[in-house]
Amino acid sequence: MSIDRRQLIAGVSASLASGPVPASGRVAGGTGSGDTTSSASPIRTSGSLKPQNRFSGDYQTARRRFLEAAAAVGAHVEHHRLPGFDGPDGRPLFMDAARIGPADADAVVVSVCGTHGAEGFCGSAAQTDWLLSEAPQRNLPKKVSAVLVHAVNPYGFAHLLRTNEHSVNINRNAIDFTAPLPENSLFEEIFATFPTRAGHDEDLVAEFGAARAAAEKKYGKWEVNDALGRGQYTNAAAPEYGGTRSEWSSQTLFSILKKLCAGARHIAYLDWHTLVSIGDGKLVYLCFNQTGDHLFERAGAWWGREAIDREAVNKQWSTGTANRRPSRNGILMWGVQRALAPQADVAGAVIEFSSDPIELLSNPEGSQRVWVYSRWLRHTRDYQSPMGRFVAAYLRETATPTRRSFQEAALTAARGSYARAFAGAARWAEENVSARPGKLVYYSAFV
Ligand SMILES: [Zn+2]
Repeated sequence: MSIDRRQLIAGVSASLASGPVPASGRVAGGTGSGDTTSSASPIRTSGSLKPQNRFSGDYQTARRRFLEAAAAVGAHVEHHRLPGFDGPDGRPLFMDAARIGPADADAVVVSVCGTHGAEGFCGSAAQTDWLLSEAPQRNLPKKVSAVLVHAVNPYGFAHLLRTNEHSVNINRNAIDFTAPLPENSLFEEIFATFPTRAGHDEDLVAEFGAARAAAEKKYGKWEVNDALGRGQYTNAAAPEYGGTRSEWSSQTLFSILKKLCAGARHIAYLDWHTLVSIGDGKLVYLCFNQTGDHLFERAGAWWGREAIDREAVNKQWSTGTANRRPSRNGILMWGVQRALAPQADVAGAVIEFSSDPIELLSNPEGSQRVWVYSRWLRHTRDYQSPMGRFVAAYLRETATPTRRSFQEAALTAARGSYARAFAGAARWAEENVSARPGKLVYYSAFV
């Protein structure tokens, strides 16, 4: 513990407490404290790039903007209400889908956001921006359509949490629940050494950090990162819990795509996430196709072979936390491929928006603090007290910075990513080839 850290948090508290608070329904958009002017940004912008109308301060505003944009371009729209759970403001929660283009398209660009709840703000902004700036002008290539799915995990999105209404990480949930569940005994061993007391204080953040450091010393840095991150199926109160059954978010997404991509043989898949600290406007492509197979190569042809290269991505993604990418259980993209096989094959990636290093995440205890704060907010559901408002605003800011320069750079990058995916989908459709889903997996070690 140090005075400096307390001062840092006090300072953040003062600046964020006047920012977006989800329960109040107020909208911060791009005007939150900490904004910088666009003139400081080296990123080219056009008159149509309007981050203040794309980035929302809360789930309900993000949803409204997405639906208004979809309606403005005449999209086919569907709404799927999450049963049994509402937002912190008591309002209902939905996964929404919009299709632009023919129902019998041979190739479909599928873009989803909010798989990790609070990470949905950037992806939502990218989707709405594409609808408003690109879709009306774009004569979608022949035999190509777009399906945008908004808020795969609306509970997490609205509550500013990574996991869903059952504390499940939807990006670890696509496994075979009829078979024995994946084991992760090292996770249990490490988690048993973590503090169990409730709270949100800085001493608790430090205790988590110390426990993790001790585990890294004992087992190795990559081993701890892998055990804590790859997914576990034994402890619903612990992070990266993959659940005991296919969750509503997974099932609903699969059924939406089966219906809206019913005539497709090929899917270009973009699952928007945040946040890696390697620079504003940079994207990290976590391609979950099998390394070197034809679908992996196809995604590389769109976004650049170097963009999906395993070693290059390891360096970008790990940002010092591990020397190579940890393994993964139950990635949602694998579930999408399984749901659509054998009629359609899926090439694509989880795409992480990046920002310049920010104080909230880049200080040594950043990830521990998000962990502690998320746990406290989930247990207390206190979105109204001064501390609850601060914690909610902190989690919102760490998921998507409200700096205007970040938002402009992120939207510019997303536009490029969409453009390349649509061009690739057009070529795929022109080739007139059968679907080849490749190997269907529930797990990958990425070696
Ligand atoms: Zn994520």
